[in-house]
Amino acid sequence: MIGNNRQFLSQQLMWIGISLGISLGISFLIPFPFSLPIIIIVFIMLSYYIRNRTMKKMGMSGSVFGGSGSSISYYCMNCGTKHDQSSCPRCGSKMKRVGS
Ligand SMILES: [Zn+2]
Repeated sequence: MIGNNRQFLSQQLMWIGISLGISLGISFLIPFPFSLPIIIIVFIMLSYYIRNRTMKKMGMSGSVFGGSGSSISYYCMNCGTKHDQSSCPRCGSKMKRVGS
């Protein structure tokens, strides 16, 4: 979880850097009063895109949490790893059993 959070944070920082770079580029290309609305539009579009990505990611992790909370879990028949994918992430076996 801590590693995921750190990755999430660094990704947010990366996006802030990208949007800063884009706005700097726009202000270099277009004189200031005209560049401002374009920068705002770019920021809105970028934040919308980032939110969409984050929502998708959170939805994925949410389904994982839901799976562990609803007392139905899948265990690999081969190595016993708990997972909810079509094939085992550890050994790749498609054989799995339902457990609690
Ligand atoms: Zn396995």
